[in-house]
Amino acid sequence: MRILFSLFILFAFAKTIHAQALSDEEMDPRVTEQYTDVPVVTASAKTGGAPSDAIVLFNGTNLDKWQQLDGSPAHWTLGDKAMTVANGGDITTRDSFDNFQLHLEFRTPTVVKGEGQGRGNSGLFLQGRYEVQILDNFNNPTYSNGQAGSIYKQTPPLANACKAPGEWQTYDVIFTAPIFSTKGTLLHPAYVTVIHNGVIVQNHTAIQGTTPYKGRGIYEPHGPGPIRLQDHGNPMSFRNIWLRPL
Ligand code: MG
Repeated sequence: MRILFSLFILFAFAKTIHAQALSDEEMDPRVTEQYTDVPVVTASAKTGGAPSDAIVLFNGTNLDKWQQLDGSPAHWTLGDKAMTVANGGDITTRDSFDNFQLHLEFRTPTVVKGEGQGRGNSGLFLQGRYEVQILDNFNNPTYSNGQAGSIYKQTPPLANACKAPGEWQTYDVIFTAPIFSTKGTLLHPAYVTVIHNGVIVQNHTAIQGTTPYKGRGIYEPHGPGPIRLQDHGNPMSFRNIWLRPL
């Protein structure tokens, strides 16, 4: 008891000393309040729950914001408020982006065909280069750095958060673009955080360059890039895609 009392006295004394060390001006609570950089108001106001300041890349009605890799209009199938891979090749956004927050919903085919990488495969390419794998890994094993939520051929996801085939799933991605010097050397890599169906699967992961199927990835200097969705031959569907530049 006596020890406790002594500790209390010591603590109170130390606090008094600390308070006395600061001037009245420094103790004014307004000194540590900031009124610049006021956060924008972004209540969810658009279809699909997109925040009011988001760029809606796809809301189910048209493919106007997308194109084939050769620049021709995107010709994936449109219907049921979704777009579906139709052997038309990859598509990309017409616009390019730097740092961003992205929301995307995807659905792997209800009718399960194939296994491993051949089952419900697509991909979300950040800045058109760095693939966050989209795959049906619901009871479908494959190499860990190639499963859903992986940075393809680099970093496995922290968890397998896949829903059953045919169910809509979400990716929420926070991407920080790489920075290059004027001479083209890498100053810092790209970083990505990925939340799959509400579960964090990449936590500020450093991306180690491009994500090819064969060989190691590389970094080549580049500026802003598009969002690219992969046609891997499986009838994957997408809906509610929006992005907020950061
Ligand atoms: Mg893929």
